[in-house]
Amino acid sequence: MIPFLDLQSINAQYRSELIDACTRVIDSGWYIGGNELNQFEQAFSAYCGVEYCIGVANGLDALILTLRAWLELGRLQPGDEVIVPANTYIASILAISANGLKPILVEPDEHSFNLSTENARAVITKKTRVILPVHLYGQLADMPSIMALAHEFGLLVLEDAAQAHGASVGGKKAGSWGDAAGFSFYPGKNLGALGDAGAITTNDPELAQTLRALRNYGSHEKYKNLFKGVNSRLDEIQAAMLCVKLQHLEQETQRRRVIADIYFENISNPTVQLPLVANVEQHVWHLFVIRSQQRVDLQKHLAAQGIQTLIHYPIPPHQQQAYQEWNCSYPITEAMHQEVLSLPMGPTLSEDDALRVAAAVNGFRVA
Ligand SMILES: *Cc1c(COP(=O)(O)O)cnc(C)c1O
Repeated sequence: MIPFLDLQSINAQYRSELIDACTRVIDSGWYIGGNELNQFEQAFSAYCGVEYCIGVANGLDALILTLRAWLELGRLQPGDEVIVPANTYIASILAISANGLKPILVEPDEHSFNLSTENARAVITKKTRVILPVHLYGQLADMPSIMALAHEFGLLVLEDAAQAHGASVGGKKAGSWGDAAGFSFYPGKNLGALGDAGAITTNDPELAQTLRALRNYGSHEKYKNLFKGVNSRLDEIQAAMLCVKLQHLEQETQRRRVIADIYFENISNPTVQLPLVANVEQHVWHLFVIRSQQRVDLQKHLAAQGIQTLIHYPIPPHQQQAYQEWNCSYPITEAMHQEVLSLPMGPTLSEDDALRVAAAVNGFRVA
């Protein structure tokens, strides 16, 4: 069997380092908001090339709390419009509606799966205040043109960087382009904790300070509450796990790129469309997503050869029950959800197994 993602083997590589870090926290007697969190926040902000990193409980909270902070700071008003790609994972959109803001969905670019700057420009109104690009599947969105558009109209930019730790263009990494970025460290993400965790990166000191209060009941100072905040903290054990895993992230990304290269060099089935990559640094291969008009049969064919694949994602957000009031249609997005298939991808996938996956894809014939 070739699993889609082998988390057990990924974390087994660092077993003794993780156990040492865990032991250090257990023996410290300090479990929330201590050294490990400070160290991780410093290390991750340095890694991304930003001034501030604020650890929170998960990636969804990172997005929700950033928009919430902009509301608290008066930079947004309830009902303001936020432009977001229609084919994103639903969390990007939940963060908008959770704050009483209005998601404005736009069709993505067909080739990159990412936000189309042209389509974003076309929906800007007087109520537009934020652009929320998503670096989907690990590929940095077209940030130079998105930032230019945002500057032209005075809009805030919140990157959803949950799938793109370390992706960069011109040496500038995901999380350092927008006014702020939300990261997830869910175990299956490229930088994964051993439980839930997330963070916001930003160069804005006022935003950073507001977020530090919001994640902690709205309090900067014990028993003084500036905001009606929440409890969304990144605990010491997860911060310690992340400190260990951050040290290996670049090497893991290189491994993912080797697997992607094997797929590119060896998959030659004319019925299968390979992903488009602008340049090597721009993509960190959270997922390797191909397209096929015979996706159901292709997935069955691969499963019959012991190859596990997944679909990211089967139902677009606008067709979810949760947003049934929307009643709209996005044909490019809908076609993507019908055709995408994610091949096995991860830093511990062997080159032989990647070659087997490629051969199995090539062996698929349209019935
Ligand atoms: C995983 C993910 C999130 C949410 O992260 P959690 O840590 O699971 O809350 C948000 N956006 C995208 C694009 C994601 O892939």
